[in-house]
Amino acid sequence: MAEKLARLGLFTDVDLLLHLPLRYEDETRLTAIRDVLPGVPAQFEVEVVSSEIAYRPRRQLVARVKDASGAMVMRFLNFYPSQQKALAAGARLRVFGELRGGFFGDEMIHPRFRVIRGDEPLPDRLTPIYPTTAGLSQGVLRKLIQHALDQADLADTLPEPIRRRLAMADFGASLRFLHQPPPDVSLADIEARHHPAWRRIAFDELLAQQLSLRRAYTARRARGAPMLKAAGRLTQKLLASLPFKLTGAQQRVWHEIANDLAQPHPMARLLQGDVGSGKTVVAALAMLQAVEAGHQAALMAPTEILAEQHYRKLSAWLAPLGIDVAWFAASVKKKQRDEWRAKVSRGETPLAVGTHALIEAGIEFERLGLTIVDEQHRFGVQQRLALKKKGQSAHQLTMSATPIPRTLAMSYYADLDVSVLDELPPGRTPVVTKLVDEARRDQVIARVHDACRAGRQAYWVCPLIEESEALQLKTAEETYARLTAELPDIKVGLVHGRLKADEKAAVMAAFVRGDMQVLVATTVIEVGVDVSNASLMVIEHAERFGLAQLHQLRGRVGRGAHDSACILLYARPLGENARARLKAIYENTDGFEIARLDLHLRGPGEFIGSRQSGVPLLRFADLEDTRLVEEARTVAEELLRDQPQAADAHLGRWLAGREELLKA
Ligand code: ADP
Ligand code: MG
Repeated sequence: MAEKLARLGLFTDVDLLLHLPLRYEDETRLTAIRDVLPGVPAQFEVEVVSSEIAYRPRRQLVARVKDASGAMVMRFLNFYPSQQKALAAGARLRVFGELRGGFFGDEMIHPRFRVIRGDEPLPDRLTPIYPTTAGLSQGVLRKLIQHALDQADLADTLPEPIRRRLAMADFGASLRFLHQPPPDVSLADIEARHHPAWRRIAFDELLAQQLSLRRAYTARRARGAPMLKAAGRLTQKLLASLPFKLTGAQQRVWHEIANDLAQPHPMARLLQGDVGSGKTVVAALAMLQAVEAGHQAALMAPTEILAEQHYRKLSAWLAPLGIDVAWFAASVKKKQRDEWRAKVSRGETPLAVGTHALIEAGIEFERLGLTIVDEQHRFGVQQRLALKKKGQSAHQLTMSATPIPRTLAMSYYADLDVSVLDELPPGRTPVVTKLVDEARRDQVIARVHDACRAGRQAYWVCPLIEESEALQLKTAEETYARLTAELPDIKVGLVHGRLKADEKAAVMAAFVRGDMQVLVATTVIEVGVDVSNASLMVIEHAERFGLAQLHQLRGRVGRGAHDSACILLYARPLGENARARLKAIYENTDGFEIARLDLHLRGPGEFIGSRQSGVPLLRFADLEDTRLVEEARTVAEELLRDQPQAADAHLGRWLAGREELLKA
């Protein structure tokens, strides 16, 4: 039993209390067979007329039953001998299920039933139906939960004045209500979680999350880190050498980061900026401040292409300043890597860029002051933990081009400070988005041709095939072959995940140099490549992509002064969700608005990625309820400031035994 409960995540009384019903059944009333509506679950009290095992078309148990108003058939395709015995002629039953018109007249397939003897009063509460697992019956779960409700301390952890101010229902009353609602409530309301009792549970969950994250925040600020103070000699030099001026947003964000770095405790800041908003230069400035302050800095990216682009860019910017950058990736020869490693560990090379190779065995920094992680949510849990260990007392900056909706930032990221680049560098042309039926692919190919003849370049992104990488590769190769055949005067290239790193790099380099006009790609180009002459993006089977991915891909064009377009090829039939995504990407260009719609369509899991392991997922609260998230945040601050014992009690209830998770 303990094993089965563990499978449901149920270890303590509190776990049981918070194991809330999926739905309810109304067994407080009886319905006459004659009055029942088809498809509406109802309870009947009947007498068995006859029962038999039939073989039409397969072995099944068929019982004919009746009440004063009419008759029906109960059918069981799987059954135990005990059930057969219970359905003896003359037995009285309470039956719960849906009546349907069947081959044998009105019938119920696999109804729930119970033999009754003598007078059995009807329950006065709705019957909860809990999420469960094989071998654990509703009846057993119900008893355990009932026991927990009787035993557990349901005292309210929310101080009375706050509860009154927010018009929050009492905690214990809310739980009792949700486990055992009275029959006169609107089931639709509770099941849709539109009920004050749900609001209370959701609030408590958000409050626990806020409290734990704010505590983590405070704990971090109590730890020490090197103060990376600098007069700005190096950063000034870099800024003077750039062919552009920082945007207002870049300046603001850079000041926030520079200020954090000079503090005696570790920075933990998330830098959010849409694709192309110019995060790299901000990262470079931060790294230079660390170097000038006598420390080292590391920059890590999730893919080799992206890491390499960072490496090239940083080297180009920093070599003139006399600053060395070490480069760690799988494709770097061992000898070269050993050399870099030695230099980094002796502190001779101040900066290192790499993929996760950077945190793997043996790279020790002499005095690491700052780690920067690009697109952190794409790293695995283990890699992120390793990185965290490595930089315990280092400042940390994470960068993300996936805009995170505000409520999500406020909840899951409450332990971080957030900077936002909300302005694109000047000179970008807006990208025109077109939705085109796959049947008109020839016209799209003609359009690619025109663009290339006009001196531009184009990306052609192949469909995402999650089930099979091999199939994905095959499709990409076919598209490549077809475009090569149909555009004989145009140089077409192909890049995909199976290529060796140096092969991939060669194709990308040719595209960047302009030696190649069309780049057929699987989604590997999704992150980071920067070719301002590319003005056309074609995405095949766009209906299969997520909103964030479409937004990222579209951000690859419109980087130069040329008119740019993104053509979304779609195949019918379109599901409802796919249609909603295409509509959203067609109608919106603002990353934050797209992120908000994405959260609405897909829920928070997609955004937080492996971060889930670090923070318990919200089970009850809905992050679209901005107001509730805000209220929880305010109350968390208030409790931590004025009533830390109430905060402790609340955390004890919600996170008991899960503190370990929070440390990840
Ligand atoms: P992302 O935020 O997507 O990582 P990048 O850092 O790659 O964006 O910057 C995109 C492009 O914009 C790069 O070519 C970069 O050099 C350029 N860029 C960055 N900041 C500015 C600016 N202030 N003015 C003009 N171009 C800029
Ligand atoms: Mg980038």
